[in-house]
Amino acid sequence: AFEYAPAPESRAVVDLAPSYGLFIDGEFTEGTGQDLRKTLAPATEEVLAEYTQAHEEDVDRAVRAARRAFTPWSALPGAERAKYLFRIARIIQERSRELAVLETLDNGKPIRETRDADLPLVAAHFFYYAGWADKLAYAGFGPDPRPVGVAAQVIPWNFPLLMLAWKVAPALATGNTVVLKPAETTPLSALFFADICRRAGLPRGVVNIVTGDGATGAALVGHPDVDKVAFTGSTAVGKEIARTVAGTSKRLTLELGGKGANIVFDDAPLDQAVEGIVNGIFFNQGQVCCAGSRLLVQESVHDELLDALKRRLATLRVGDPLDKNTDVGAINSAEQLDRITELAAAGEAEGAERWSPACELPTSGYWFAPTLFTGVTQAHRIAREEIFGPVLSVLTFRTPDEAVAKANNTPYGLSAGIWTEKGSRILKLADQLRAGVVWANTFNKFDPTSPFGGYKESGFGREGGRHGLEPYLAGGGRAGEPGGGPG
Ligand code: NAD
Repeated sequence: AFEYAPAPESRAVVDLAPSYGLFIDGEFTEGTGQDLRKTLAPATEEVLAEYTQAHEEDVDRAVRAARRAFTPWSALPGAERAKYLFRIARIIQERSRELAVLETLDNGKPIRETRDADLPLVAAHFFYYAGWADKLAYAGFGPDPRPVGVAAQVIPWNFPLLMLAWKVAPALATGNTVVLKPAETTPLSALFFADICRRAGLPRGVVNIVTGDGATGAALVGHPDVDKVAFTGSTAVGKEIARTVAGTSKRLTLELGGKGANIVFDDAPLDQAVEGIVNGIFFNQGQVCCAGSRLLVQESVHDELLDALKRRLATLRVGDPLDKNTDVGAINSAEQLDRITELAAAGEAEGAERWSPACELPTSGYWFAPTLFTGVTQAHRIAREEIFGPVLSVLTFRTPDEAVAKANNTPYGLSAGIWTEKGSRILKLADQLRAGVVWANTFNKFDPTSPFGGYKESGFGREGGRHGLEPYLAGGGRAGEPGGGPG
């Protein structure tokens, strides 16, 4: 059986304290309730550290600290704010090995991903938004673009530090202050980030980190002195937050779930498509909101593509996420594993054909083998519901119109991929697909200059690029969005 043996030199670059407090007003402090929670390494179930469950009083302290910091921080010239962001970006780069290992330990994703994708993107977002801080005045945000105030930011566990970067960097660049709540299963990188803010000399109260569960998140978004709420997570919680925020003057952006379609035409370069499909659904064990979780393949190449895909899946290495050769790591939590297991069982019960490559899974920790289902119809739950795991549902189509109709037949609208040699077809489909991001002959490509966000039940508002600044500026925002308005 597989033996989990973390490379000791990798593990050793992270110096974990036994327990962590909350980061409020520039300092780590105890929570009022003094309740501690544990965070585990999902690959081994080892307890990594304890952290503090923030209660309403703690959230209130954090929001008050952010409010006090707002006036001086927003009054700084943009070039001064940029210096702090550049400093933060550089420290992230200097500490990227440590942060990559930390993120891999707490999340379970392969070190190859945290090292080559998460951490470089985290630093890139801080560099990118640092560059905006002194250029807001004449950039079309109105004659006098001003920050909105105190931003409440709630993030999920799938890209803990990257989701933090997507939210914190544009908020600070525009002169807002922040209270951020990381997810309950992955609090550590946000706490390390707090330390980085301190080392960068960031004025107290500009960034505050409150850890805890959904109750902490609810207290934060419901706090009366918050001006802007940014949430990434499940559609169910997003809707709850929208109800909380409705009827207040708070601005809101929501980045929610997805059920992305990866559409492969018979003229596609199939080898390249296979790589894109694998990347689309097995990157981060499929725990990606924009995952290509539905493969729509043109009937005439179905068998050829599936043969190639199965051969490729047989080469994936599943196991120790700290091993540089690992392709597929652990599922983030027992709860998430149960959800994936349940939906995969529903796929079988509803008559789809299940296939996984032969692979031996570790005996402790949370693991799910790469899985694909063929013979899936649009009525199957695995074609409709977000699985958020390494499970691909394969459907077929004959014509481009049928592909578009099937791709759009979902309550979500976050991502899609098109694989074809025909440029004209790419342009036409990109227009017809109701998805915030459409990739052509590639998948899961991210860049700080590109806006990202959804339609329909995938949420509203955009993060990334110039668009990512708008929700944080009075005079920005989009008319018709809750809390957006003319500003
Ligand atoms: P979740 O909605 O359960 O939790 C997300 C965060 O919200 C966590 O920090 C959680 O503690 C907090 N939270 C829970 N209940 C809350 C409440 N009532 N009020 C305020 N905060 C609350 O989601 P999850 O299981 O952590 O993440 C998985 C989901 O996130 C998936 O559905 C995925 O598609 C989605 N997601 C979307 C994007 C995107 O950009 N669109 C990115 C990553 C993840």
